[in-house]
Amino acid sequence: MPELPEVETIRRHLAPHVEGRVLERLEVLDPRWCEPLAPAEVAAAVEGRRVEALARRGKYLIWELEDDVHLMLHLRMTGTLLLDPPEPPRFRRVRFGFDGGHELYFDDPRRFGTGELALGGDARDEFLAARLGVEPLSPDFTSAHMYALTRTSRAPIKAFLLDQRKIAGVGNIYADEALFRAGIHPLRPAQRLTRKQVAALREGVVASLEGGLAAKGASIDDFRHPDGVQGSFQERFLIHLREGEPCLVCERPVRKLRAAGRGTYVCERCQPRPRRIQAAARRSASRPDRSAAASS
Ligand SMILES: [Zn+2]
Repeated sequence: MPELPEVETIRRHLAPHVEGRVLERLEVLDPRWCEPLAPAEVAAAVEGRRVEALARRGKYLIWELEDDVHLMLHLRMTGTLLLDPPEPPRFRRVRFGFDGGHELYFDDPRRFGTGELALGGDARDEFLAARLGVEPLSPDFTSAHMYALTRTSRAPIKAFLLDQRKIAGVGNIYADEALFRAGIHPLRPAQRLTRKQVAALREGVVASLEGGLAAKGASIDDFRHPDGVQGSFQERFLIHLREGEPCLVCERPVRKLRAAGRGTYVCERCQPRPRRIQAAARRSASRPDRSAAASS
């Protein structure tokens, strides 16, 4: 799924091509994209309006149109935006037509991406505030702020990082990379982190996101730039997707485990397991032995 660096890469690529242009036509080919609104309703609200700015908040790409009309796109699992492709992409769900004959397609094989309309800045801010916490590359993302957020969460820190209402834009890749950089096990409860650990994790989040941005995103799954080119951050992963390979710090093989329902990569020497979770793992590992003994 595209995360903050991937969405920001798309924004930076598209902005110079679309800002100042008139969105002449919005053709919604799959009505599920803008549910519960009807495609005609969304089209009527945006068509003929100039694009004042292309913005981003968390993983949302926000089209700020004339007269305070906002269209908010979420790419979800497999969504991509393609500008003036040689032919219409196979899984197109939406077509944007701009003045000057430019076309932008939203291509989305799994069809989870969404488009939401907000009439007025207040409606936009209300929509985003209900879904998104602090923007991690903004000055508001301080270690004191993050420490306060962790105090009320018993969730494992990996789940905490994925919660968009706490920190906006971090997903599975960047959470793994940040935890490895900070030397923190993904199953450690958020509220048990020390101030020092939270500070290291904040640094890890920022460094991972900035690394992703510098590489123009990670192209695993379907992520492409609007010109069809792929990002290269997947070649620079420190831990994510490196199961069985030696840890870059201590050479112990990288393990894959499940945290927050997601495949999670960890070096359990550099990111030691919390003691209570170690004990629980030992207990569950001993269970099959006991049942085998009982049945024999
Ligand atoms: Zn290691």
